[in-house]
Amino acid sequence: MKNGLYIDCHTHSNNSPDGDCSVHDMVQTARDLGLFAYGLSDHCEANDPDPLKCVEMTRKSFLDMQKEKEAFEHKDIKLLAGVELGQALQDEAMAEKILSMCGFDFVIGSLHNLKGFEDFAFLDYHITENAAPVLVGKYFNELLELAQWNKFDVLGHLTYPLRYIQGVMKISLDMSSYEYIIDEILKIVIQNGKGIEINTSGLRQALGLTMPNKAIVKRYKDLGGEIITVGSDAHCTKDLGKGIADAYELLKECGFDHVCYFEQRKPMFIKI
Ligand SMILES: [Zn+2]
Ligand SMILES: [Zn+2]
Repeated sequence: MKNGLYIDCHTHSNNSPDGDCSVHDMVQTARDLGLFAYGLSDHCEANDPDPLKCVEMTRKSFLDMQKEKEAFEHKDIKLLAGVELGQALQDEAMAEKILSMCGFDFVIGSLHNLKGFEDFAFLDYHITENAAPVLVGKYFNELLELAQWNKFDVLGHLTYPLRYIQGVMKISLDMSSYEYIIDEILKIVIQNGKGIEINTSGLRQALGLTMPNKAIVKRYKDLGGEIITVGSDAHCTKDLGKGIADAYELLKECGFDHVCYFEQRKPMFIKI
């Protein structure tokens, strides 16, 4: 990857429970890849059963990135300290606390589990005949509430359950029944001056598609959406930057001539 304008705005270090590499190693890899900007977005789930640990890890993630920023100031890469805030509405007070704790550059608002359910990775989609479509319907309803909450910068990996339902379980879904609610989510995000991301992890996983897919990115553009970031969702150095070039192609095919990153919670537009 030699183009100097590639940006990866969704990555995890070992300050995430499921991350493997240090912030320093992630930053070094981002530099080796020649990225224009690199965003760290370790997990903090508002409904984490161990909130103290979650807060401590998030603070460490931020401080680790501050150290890297100081070391690389005015050098060859723009470093951004973010957070992937999961399930904000499942403990709003905790979500507010996380947001006020550090001066993040950006906040990805994600939904990994429904209220009262485990992560979509662990659900039984065969428990009833229509379990999968019902759960996906609930996902979009809860995501709509998250969009209305509006205290994030971009919505993370829209269509996340498909990673497991279509990707891992190979259950096919008629997505046309969700078009209306997806439109509602996109319209609220646009009205509120917020954005979405193209999460490329699905390209290297069983799903074989970005989250969201091209049809939804195109719909976002057609509805007037301009703020869009791209992220590999790498949990280790080997996946950093993966799929970003494909996401840029997808953006162009959908009519975008730019991609965004966030600095101090403000969207910056970069030509692609
Ligand atoms: Zn996520
Ligand atoms: Zn993530």
